[in-house]
Amino acid sequence: MNEQRIQILPEFIANQIAAGEVVQRPESVVKELVENAIDAGATSISVLIRQAGKSLIHVLDNGSGMSRDDVALSLKRHATSKILSAEDLYQIQTLGFRGEALASIASVASVEIRTKQTTDELGWKLFAEPMKPDVIEPIQQDTGTQIFVRNLFYNIPARRKFLRSDITEFRHISDTMMKFALSYPNIRFVFHDGDTLIFDCKPEILSDRIKSLLGENIYNSILPVEYQNDSVNISGFIGKPNISRTTRAGQYLFMNHRSIQSRSLSHAVYQGYEHLIDSSQHPFFVLQLELDPKKVDVNVHPQKTEVKFDDEKSMYNAVQEAVMRTLRANNLIPELRFRDVQSQSPFERMKIDGNSSDNSTSHVVVNTLTGEIIEERRTNTTTNFLGGGGLSNSSSWTNRSSSSSNFSGGNSLSAGQLQRPTNDWNPSQMSAYDSLFSSSDKTLNPSDTTNSDSSPELQLQLWQMHNKYILMQTDDGVMVIDQHIAHERILYEKALLLMEQDFPVSQKLLFAVTTELSPSEMILYRELYDELIKLGFTLEEKSTTMVEISGVPLDIHAGSEAESLREIIEQYSEYQIVRPASQRDTLAASYGCRNAIKAGEPLSYPEMKKLVEDLFKTKTPEVCPHGRPVMLNFNLKEFDRRFGRTS
Ligand code: ADP
Ligand code: MG
Repeated sequence: MNEQRIQILPEFIANQIAAGEVVQRPESVVKELVENAIDAGATSISVLIRQAGKSLIHVLDNGSGMSRDDVALSLKRHATSKILSAEDLYQIQTLGFRGEALASIASVASVEIRTKQTTDELGWKLFAEPMKPDVIEPIQQDTGTQIFVRNLFYNIPARRKFLRSDITEFRHISDTMMKFALSYPNIRFVFHDGDTLIFDCKPEILSDRIKSLLGENIYNSILPVEYQNDSVNISGFIGKPNISRTTRAGQYLFMNHRSIQSRSLSHAVYQGYEHLIDSSQHPFFVLQLELDPKKVDVNVHPQKTEVKFDDEKSMYNAVQEAVMRTLRANNLIPELRFRDVQSQSPFERMKIDGNSSDNSTSHVVVNTLTGEIIEERRTNTTTNFLGGGGLSNSSSWTNRSSSSSNFSGGNSLSAGQLQRPTNDWNPSQMSAYDSLFSSSDKTLNPSDTTNSDSSPELQLQLWQMHNKYILMQTDDGVMVIDQHIAHERILYEKALLLMEQDFPVSQKLLFAVTTELSPSEMILYRELYDELIKLGFTLEEKSTTMVEISGVPLDIHAGSEAESLREIIEQYSEYQIVRPASQRDTLAASYGCRNAIKAGEPLSYPEMKKLVEDLFKTKTPEVCPHGRPVMLNFNLKEFDRRFGRTS
C-alpha cells in the first residue's frame, strides 16, 4: 500500500484556520484594519461599526493607498509589503507584518476595499466574498484606503454563535479604539457606532488627548513621566493615587506604539507606587515604552499583544524607576524632609569657645527642651527611638557618634556583636569607604572637613543596627536603610555619571601595581578598557596576562587596587549573564557592587549621615541597580496601632 494521506490544505481552508487565531471577534477586525491604516502612514482614521461590528466594520484612512497590483494581492495569505527578509522579522517597525490579517478576514466575511495612491489617476475597488472570485474595477476616490467588512462569520455559524452580546462586543471595540487613540495622539481618530459619534479627536499632544478621551477629572490628576536609559525611553503619564480605581480599566501600556499586555511590567508600575496605594487599588497610567525593535520579539502571538523583551528584568527596573521618579518629583513619595527631621529633634549642637583645635571637646549638644547639656559623643545614644526614649544602650541599636572613634573595633556599644562576630569586618574596605567620603567632602568645601559648626547642621536621627542596617527617624515613622545596597546605588550612579561625562578623575598611584588576569578576563578587560579609563583607572597592558595599574578612581582604597580591578571584571562577567544590560550599565553596577561598603561594617555617625545624604541625592534612592529595595518604611501609625495607642 502506497497510499498518500497527507495533503496540503486548500488556501481557503488554511485561511479560515488562521482566522481562528487572528479574527476572534469584531474587535480583532477593527484592530487589524486600523493597524494597516497606521502602517500606511494615515494621519486621519475613521471607524464606523454597525451592530457591534457584526454587520459592518468600515475603516477609512488617508494613508498611502494601494496600486492595482497591490490591492489584488492584499487578500492573499502571507502577502505583506512590510517585511522582505528574515532579518526584518527581528526588527519589526510596523504594526502588521504577518500578512495574514486581510486574508483571514476575507475568509470569514465579505470584504470590499477602495483605495487610491496619490500618484494614480484612478482608484481601485476590490470586492471579495468567501469562495467566490475577486472582482477588481477602477473607481473615483480620494487618496487613501477604505475597507468595508460585512457580515462577519456569516459562513461560520458556530463562530457567529459564540459572539457575545452587542454591548460586550462593542466594549471590546471601543477599548481598542481608545488604545489606538492614546498611543497615537498625533493621528486624528473618529469613531462612530452606527449614527452615534463616540469620539472625534484631532491631532493633539498626549495630555490633551487624555483630556478629550477620559475627561477633565483624570486630566487634572496626571503626572508626566519622562525617563530614559540607554535601552529604553519611557514617556506618558501616571495618575496620582487619588484616581486609582478598583479595576484595571485605566491602564494603558504601549511598546513602540503597540498596545501590550505584560504582567511583569504592570507589576513594575505597582511596585513604583508601593505604599502609596492600597493593594486593592489600580493606578491609572498611559505609558509608552520606546526601544530598539531588535530588542523585543512581537512575533510570539498572532494577535501581537504579547511581546518578549530580550531583557525583561531591566525593563522591569526601568518601569519601576520611571514611576518612582515621577512620584518623587511630584513630592508624592516622601522625600527626606531634613527640616522636619531636624525640628523633631530637641538636640542642638553648640560650639563652646576656646579649645577650637580639639574637635571632641569643642562642641556640646544641648537638649533645647530641658536645657540639659549632653556631651557630644552621647548625642545619639540619648535620643529616642520612636520618640519614646530610653531605648538606647541596652537595646540592640548600635549607635555611633562622631567622636567615638570605633574603626578599631572597640565597639563596646554594639549589641550587634552578640549576633555577629566582628571578624568579617575588613579595615581596608572601611578605609576605602572613608576615603570616598572624605574626598567628596573636600570637593565640597575644603575648609570644612570637620562637622560644620557655623552652618545649621542637619541633625538626623540615625542608628546602625547589627552593622548592616541604618535606622532613621522620619517625620512619620522610621526608615530602615540597607547600608550596602544604599552605597551600591550611590556608587552605581556615580560611575554612570563619570562614564557619561568622560572627564576621568584618576588618583595617581605612587607605585604602579600589576594584576594578573585570566584569558577570559583579559578579553573583558580589553572590551571594557575605554570605560574603565573614564571611571578613573589608568591602565596599561604589560603582557597577555598582566595589566599595570597606575591610577584608580577616588573610591578605591590604597592597597586594594589590583583586587578591585579584578573583582570589577569578575562581577561584570557574572552580571553579563544574569542581568543583561548595556555594557556601561553593567560595568557601573559591577563597580557599585564591588566597592560598596559591606554588611557587617560598623559605621560612625558622620559616615551614616553622609551615606544617607548621598543616597537621597541619587536619582532613585529606593532601589538598587538590580531592583532590590534600598529602604523600608515603617509608619508611626502602625506602631501606634500595634501598641494599642488610639490617637
Ligand atoms: P500585514 O499588515 O501583516 O502586512 P495584512 O493582511 O494586514 O498584512 O495586509 C496586507 C497588505 O495589504 C499590507 O502589507 C499592505 O501592503 C496592504 N494594506 C492593507 N491595508 C492597507 C491600507 N489601509 N493602506 C495601504 N495598504 C494596505
Ligand atoms: Mg496588517
